[in-house]
Amino acid sequence: MTEASTDTPMIRVSAVDKYFGSLHVLSDIDLEIPRGQVVVVLGPSGSGKSTLCRVLNRLEVVSSGSILVDGVPLPEEGRALAELRADVGMVFQQFNLFAHKSIIDNVTLGPVKVRKLGKDEAREEGMRLLRRVGIADQAEKYPAQLSGGQQQRAAIARALAMRPKVMLFDEPTSALDPEMVSEVLEVMADLAEEGMTMLVVSHEMGFARRAAHRVLFMADGEVVEDTTPRRFFEEPESDRAKDFLGKIL
Ligand code: ADP
Ligand code: MG
Repeated sequence: MTEASTDTPMIRVSAVDKYFGSLHVLSDIDLEIPRGQVVVVLGPSGSGKSTLCRVLNRLEVVSSGSILVDGVPLPEEGRALAELRADVGMVFQQFNLFAHKSIIDNVTLGPVKVRKLGKDEAREEGMRLLRRVGIADQAEKYPAQLSGGQQQRAAIARALAMRPKVMLFDEPTSALDPEMVSEVLEVMADLAEEGMTMLVVSHEMGFARRAAHRVLFMADGEVVEDTTPRRFFEEPESDRAKDFLGKIL
């Protein structure tokens, strides 16, 4: 495998289509995300936002087209696929932590299995990440003992423990009580500031304005607008975007 040069886009999606049966969910998507860019994806329910995230780490397989992550085509299976999933971290609306494992074990499991870190080293790194997301004091607890915001921060730490090249967030704050939204967005904004490449499906306008370099607006499986946050929120071009903003603002 050749080392990708720094001007290789982190993500390159070319002519991607995705069907579920006869349902055309992603329609001829072309998308390049340079390294370090923070992209917020918005759009109505059913427009294909989650599917876009899921094809990027091969939780779903595209029907046609190609996807390169850091210049390398998505692998089909085996160890290479596990490594891809480490490179492309994902945080879901439902935190998806292992319920029967402590928070620190949730964070260290992947690094021990996939990155082949020793237990002590994984733990040290895991604690450092839990400190970074502000929940080091929760390390020995089980997910159900934490608030939603703490669980989501644990899920972010777990993804970061794999040393991802890019992070995907699929509505990470949608399942949270309102008072916990900001503590998660804060962690995400810090990551953005540190230069992480991020694709964030979220309708949190404050986050988009503060942290995003770019906004994609999707409707019916297509990218309808690809612009800056300011332009999107202040001067949306398409009727579909105007209609959408009228509903969320
Ligand atoms: P969004 O995240 O923007 O709400 P999704 O990507 O979840 O949209 O879904 C896009 C469309 O694909 C929807 O019509 C949804 O019902 C459909 N869909 C998503 N996943 C599946 C699946 N596994 N099987 C069949 N249809 C699906
Ligand atoms: Mg979705």
